[in-house]
Amino acid sequence: RFITFEGIDGAGKSTQIAAVLERLRAAGLDVLSSREPGGTPLGEALREIVLHQSMHLETEALLMFAARREHLAQLIEPALSRGAWVVSDRFSDATYAYQVGGRGLLSEKFVALEAWVHPALQPDLTFLFDVAPAVAAQRLAQGRAESDRFEREQADFFERVRAAYLLRAEQSAGRIAVIDAARSPEQITADVLARLELLLG
Ligand code: C5P
Repeated sequence: RFITFEGIDGAGKSTQIAAVLERLRAAGLDVLSSREPGGTPLGEALREIVLHQSMHLETEALLMFAARREHLAQLIEPALSRGAWVVSDRFSDATYAYQVGGRGLLSEKFVALEAWVHPALQPDLTFLFDVAPAVAAQRLAQGRAESDRFEREQADFFERVRAAYLLRAEQSAGRIAVIDAARSPEQITADVLARLELLLG
């Protein structure tokens, strides 16, 4: 099974990923936890570049998919083949939200890249943590010290990213579970674990 986590910066993904990993491991499952962009040595090197250097928006999208191709080949596909559970902090929905929604990449180009890099694979379940950009920004300001060039974007950028995520969720035929992330971490975890149980069966 393949589970991904999405949302704007500061939506609270990390806390919820930890709760899901704990639940899956408690069930004795073989679990691989990873992130995008990143996950592999090449992917992490691309992450450094893409998060700290400005570039043409299509270059940005191509590097995200290059990192993803490597991530799929080296980690995700082998893990799924051996029956492991894969949990990834972001996947292609993030590229749709940030590069198409946020930056204005033509959605046809996103569709073409997705069809190239993973024609037959989609996550079994995606948690989308939905929260107003103002709330997310406040959480980021209180939390971690390091920031990347995406986190320094203005609220209108995150409004577009959020809207694109919600549109993608609407079109996902139930794959993407939209979680109201304005609530307390405990309430959100309860929601997330309830949804996860359906997949655990
Ligand atoms: O979730 P995390 O903070 O690790 O994401 C790293 C950064 O990469 C975030 O600021 C996010 O906005 C950005 N990102 C992006 N496009 C993607 C994936 C991540 O702009 N496709």
